[in-house]
Parts: sequence; C-alpha cells; structure tokens
Amino acid sequence: MKLGISSCLLGTMCRYDGGHSRDRFIVNELSNYFEFEAYCPERLVFPTPRPAIRLVRSNGEVTVRTTNDNKDVTNTITEISKELAKNIEDNQLCGFILKSKSPTCGMERVKIYPDKKNGQSENVGVGVFAKELKEKFPLLPIEEEGRLGDPWLRENFLMQIFAYKSLFEFLESKPTINDLVEFHTSYKYLIYSKSHNSYKELGNIVANRDKKSLEVILLEYKRLFLETIAQKGTIKNTYNVLLHIYGYFKKVISKEEKDEILETLEDFKKGIIPLIAVIKIIKLYTKKFDIEYLKTQVFLNPYPKDLALRSKVEAYK
Ligand code: SF4
Repeated sequence: MKLGISSCLLGTMCRYDGGHSRDRFIVNELSNYFEFEAYCPERLVFPTPRPAIRLVRSNGEVTVRTTNDNKDVTNTITEISKELAKNIEDNQLCGFILKSKSPTCGMERVKIYPDKKNGQSENVGVGVFAKELKEKFPLLPIEEEGRLGDPWLRENFLMQIFAYKSLFEFLESKPTINDLVEFHTSYKYLIYSKSHNSYKELGNIVANRDKKSLEVILLEYKRLFLETIAQKGTIKNTYNVLLHIYGYFKKVISKEEKDEILETLEDFKKGIIPLIAVIKIIKLYTKKFDIEYLKTQVFLNPYPKDLALRSKVEAYK
C-alpha cells in the first residue's frame, strides 16, 4: 500500500509560483517505508506558474478565486478534485499527507478571505481536494505536513497508518475467526491507549454471540477498528496502559527496579522523557521474564524502530 501525498511536498515544482514545498521528514524518512502516490489537482487544470488562488466567502458560500483578478475557479478545482478522489480505490492507499494552508490541499484552518475590503478573514476553511478526499475516505489516515511537526500528532499518525496497513493486509489474507482473535489480541494495548470501550466493543464483535457470518464480522470489525485507530491517543491513557503492562512483572522485580520503572513512567507523564524510554525498559523485562503475551503486543512495536520517532526527547518538550 502507498501513501497519497500532495506533490509539492515531495519537491515537485508544481506550486503556483513554480516552486515546491519539499518536506525533509517525508522525503528522507517516510520514503524508506512507503511508496508515494503524488497528487496535484491544480497542476492538472492550470499552468505552472499560474496566478495564486484562495478561498473567498461570497454571499455566504465559500468559493475559490484567483488573487490577481478575482476570477471564480471554484467549478474547475471542484471537478478535478472530485475526479481525482473518485479514482482512488478503497485499498490503494494507507494514508494521505496533505499540504497545509492550501485552498486545494489544506486539511483544516485554511484561510477564507472576505469578498469585501473591510471584511474579516476566517481560519476555518478546508481545501477543495482535501474535502473530497475526506468525504470519500472518512477513515483513511490523513494529516498535513505542518501538523506532523508536532511529535505527538506525528506519532499518532504513524501508528495509525501502520495499523491501517496491517488491518488491510490482514483482511486480504483471507483470515479465519481464530486469526481475527489473534489479530485483535495483538492490538489490545494499542487500542486501550485510544479507548477502553472500543476494545470491549471490538471484543464483542470477535466473540460473535449472534452467530453472524465471518464476512459480516470482518466488515464490522474493520469499521470499528479504523474508527478507533483514528482517535488521537492521550498521554494519560498511554500512561495508564504502561502502568497496566508494568503489572505483569512488578511482583517479580526488586524494589530498586520498581522505583526506577515508576520514576520513568512519571517522567513520561510529565513530558520529561519520550515514550521510547519507557517502552525500552518494558521490553527488557518482557524479554527477561519471557512474557509471551506482551511480546506480541503491537503497542510495544507500533512501527519500525528505525523510524525512531519515539527516541526524540526534544520532541516532548
Ligand atoms: S498544495 Fe496541492 S494543489 Fe497546491 S501545489 Fe501542492 S499539491 Fe499542488
């Protein structure tokens, strides 16, 4: 599976001014794990360079206009955006990274200008292509490159795209109900870090008390799983999950070891150290005491460790 992306973020010179918006993290790091499917709606309907466009509120409606002569290009941009979104297939992408602030690609808080000189602008717009994408794929992980600068959002997005990919690969493997039980179990703590209720509800689907067909169960599971991983985890929930996991070996370690782990957990909660510091310690004990159940938990390995987002201490400050 691939990641969809606004072309200019890869360094393509497709911006209105003939420039690009190359993003280092995407190009240098994510490209090691994902192929990109690049999209630039504007370039398909306008030349490059071209007059800049922006969102303008006109008679209550949000329109798209050129900045130089206020020409209304709403229909042109809307049609190409619909066309592009329509041609993306359900299992083609495992996420999408959009260019922030763009009237076409911006996911949120895009500036909407007033059509009168003394009117107020509003930072509540959504780019035309981003809107079409979100409507067609409400559960697809979608983020903006700007928000990926926030370590917690970035961590959540990465977790989400790897979990999304893993679910689709799992479903394509023609799983049995036993495979589903195993898959669900391996996601226990990751789902807990999002929502306890969701884990319970997903568990009810897997338990299948109503004797539904496997096809129906997998569909229900897929929907709720994707909704759950789309939720942003919180430090508090994550801390509680870590505490719970610590319970697996707290009775068999020394007082000094306990103190060290609990201090590490507190430091994580306060944002002094990153999650990786706690995860690393927990994994050591998991290995030392050979705790099979924890070894299979995706929460302790949510994405390739080389990506190492969790190791950036400064990210939490
Ligand atoms: S923001 Fe979107 S439409 Fe604008 S140049 Fe980048 S890819 Fe093209």
